[in-house]
Amino acid sequence: MKPSDLAKPFVHSYPSYVPGRPIEDVARDMGLDPSGIIKLASNENPFGPSPMAVEAGKRALEQGQLYPDGGCYALRNRLARFHGLAPEQFVIGNGSNEVIELLGHVFLGPGDEVVMGKPEFVVYSLVAVLFGAKAVEVPLVGHRNDLSALARAVTPRTKLVIVATPNNPTGTANSPEELASFIRSLPGTAICVVDEAYSDFAGAPPDIRPLIREGRNVIGLRTFSKVYGLASLRVGYGYASAELATLLDRVRQPFNVNAIAQAAAIAALDDTGFSRRCVAETRSGLRRLEKGFADLGLEFVPSEANFILVRVGDGDRVFDALQRRGVIVRPVRSYGMPEWVRVTVGTPEQNERLLRELAAVVR
Ligand SMILES: *Cc1c(COP(=O)(O)O)cnc(C)c1O
Repeated sequence: MKPSDLAKPFVHSYPSYVPGRPIEDVARDMGLDPSGIIKLASNENPFGPSPMAVEAGKRALEQGQLYPDGGCYALRNRLARFHGLAPEQFVIGNGSNEVIELLGHVFLGPGDEVVMGKPEFVVYSLVAVLFGAKAVEVPLVGHRNDLSALARAVTPRTKLVIVATPNNPTGTANSPEELASFIRSLPGTAICVVDEAYSDFAGAPPDIRPLIREGRNVIGLRTFSKVYGLASLRVGYGYASAELATLLDRVRQPFNVNAIAQAAAIAALDDTGFSRRCVAETRSGLRRLEKGFADLGLEFVPSEANFILVRVGDGDRVFDALQRRGVIVRPVRSYGMPEWVRVTVGTPEQNERLLRELAAVVR
C-alpha cells in the first residue's frame, strides 16, 4: 500500500495554512533585490526584538548543547510576576498556536464542536478539523465578533468557544465588559479561549483574571510574536486556572520551547520601555495609515491591533501589484473578503512607502 492509502482520510482534504510571503521568496519570484522589499503581511514588529532580548538569546545559544528546561521554570515565574498569577497557571507553547493545538489534544474528538467567528484566524478551524471536531462559524457583525450569536451557537457538544480580541483579520475588539458577561453566560460544559495576541495594542484590553478567580472555564492566550518581536523564536503561552494549565502541560512535547526563546522572552518582558515605545509607534502608524487611506478615498476598518484592513477593490490584484513594487501585504480572499487586503503597521518609513505604492496601484 502507498502511504497515501494508509493515511487517515481527513489528511487528503486538510487545508494547509498559507503564511505571509517571506521576503526572500518574493525577491526570487519577482527578480527584486531583497533589501528593497518590505513585508507588512504577518503582523510582525517592524522595530525587531528588544536589544535586551537579543543579548539574552545569544547568551542562551552559547549553552546550545544542553536541552532546555522543559518546564520553563524561569519564564513561568517571570510571567507569574507580570500577570499577578501563580506559575502553575501558565502553559508555555511553541508559539501560542501550539497552545491551541494542546487544547485540541485535551478537549477535542470526533463529534465535538468548536464555536468561532467568521472570518476568524484560520488556525482555530484547522485545529478543530485536525481532531475530527466541527468548526461552527458565526458571522462577525460590523467586522466584530457577535458575542450573543456566539453564545447562541453553543450546544452540549461545544467544547471550545474561541474569541480573538482584537480580532484577526479585522483588528476589531470587544469591550472588556461585554466579553466578561459573555463568558459568565456560557455553560460550564464549554471552555472559552480568549486569544489576546493583539491585546497589547488595544485601547481597552480584556482582563480575564477575575473570571479565572471565579472559577470560570476560561483561558487567555498570549504570544511573543507580535509586540515583543520574537515571531522567529516561536514562543507563546496560555494562562488559566492551575487545573486547566496543568492538563494542557501534560500533553506537550517534553522540550517544546527552546532555551533561546525562553531566555529572550524573559528579557523581552523585562524591557518594558521597548514594548511601550513599540505600542506607541504602532498607534501613531495606524493613525497615519488611516489618514492615508482616507486621502485615497479607500474604506478601512478602524483597528485596535497592529494591522488594518483596507478595501482596495480587487484584493488579489492589488496584492500582486504591490508585490511587484516590493511591498508584501496579505490578501484576504481566503477569509471571504476578496475586496480587501490586510496591512501590518510598519516603521514610519515603511508606512509612507506603502501609501506611495498603494496610491500608484489603485489609481
Ligand atoms: C499571530 C497570532 C497568534 C500568535 O501565534 P504564535 O504561534 O504565537 O506566533 C495567535 N493568534 C492570532 C489570532 C494571531 O494573529
